[in-house]
Amino acid sequence: MARRRRVLSDAAVHELSICQALVRQLRGISTQHGGGEVALVKLRIGPLSGIESAQLEQAFPLAAAGTPAARAVLEIITAPVRIHCVDCGTETATAPNRLLCGCCGSLRTRLLSGDEMLLESVELELAMPAAAIA
Ligand SMILES: [Zn+2]
Repeated sequence: MARRRRVLSDAAVHELSICQALVRQLRGISTQHGGGEVALVKLRIGPLSGIESAQLEQAFPLAAAGTPAARAVLEIITAPVRIHCVDCGTETATAPNRLLCGCCGSLRTRLLSGDEMLLESVELELAMPAAAIA
């Protein structure tokens, strides 16, 4: 009898490794700007990226602990699924499980967006010199 795999933990490991890569990137951004703390991180995630937003939100604090991103707020924006129709040339938004052209109903479509994970913006809290507040 095969051993049951712990599917949930496997998924969380996937999101944790994504968060670790993200935190490395945030640490780099912080260093470039004089070592400020990361206040807000906006991620754009497509429904077809295979990334679970809820798992990502859980994994982020674990990955960020002890880094300049430790107190950052993670904001996840769901990217729309957009397709280009090969037959009629129209670009339409669609549901992730229904990649049909919204104009002519053709199945011959190409995915334009919806499978991405992008770091949309980062807000840093810079250590402000006291002299600057006059
Ligand atoms: Zn079409």
